[in-house]
Amino acid sequence: IFLPHLVASMEVEETYIMVKPDGIQRGLEHYKDLKTRPFFPKLINYITSGPVVCMAWEGVGAVASARKLIGSTDPLQAEPGTIRGDLAVQTGRNVVHGSDSPENGKREIALWFKEGELCQWSPAQATWLRE
Ligand code: GDP
Ligand code: MG
Repeated sequence: IFLPHLVASMEVEETYIMVKPDGIQRGLEHYKDLKTRPFFPKLINYITSGPVVCMAWEGVGAVASARKLIGSTDPLQAEPGTIRGDLAVQTGRNVVHGSDSPENGKREIALWFKEGELCQWSPAQATWLRE
């Protein structure tokens, strides 16, 4: 997926995008950094409650661009026009995940995809969207 609103000084990054839920059944610990938080049990129930759609995006500034499209964690704080701002109501049902750093992007992609499951491609209009 190609993200057109990119800042020239940013690096090429990888970010993991997920249309929630599934996962823990496969022994994955996607939210291990949140293990000590009071909402963790509810979060695990939520994220394992059904199938999810997994995506790996690559592009200049992909982490920040994706987080901008997704919007704030709390849908009430998320801007209109963002996925959470337009489509979600509660933090505990906020529709979509996006990695919060390039390091976590790599870690999460490695958790959710085996080698060979990802394909790399460039859209034909790429040079018209980015210098
Ligand atoms: P994100 O990076 O914007 O997704 O937010 P975090 O990494 O802080 O939290 C991960 C996910 O945990 C969020 O997207 C929510 O689904 C959930 N979450 C975070 N804070 C809360 C909370 O206070 N209550 C509940 N029920 N869920 C939360
Ligand atoms: Mg997060």
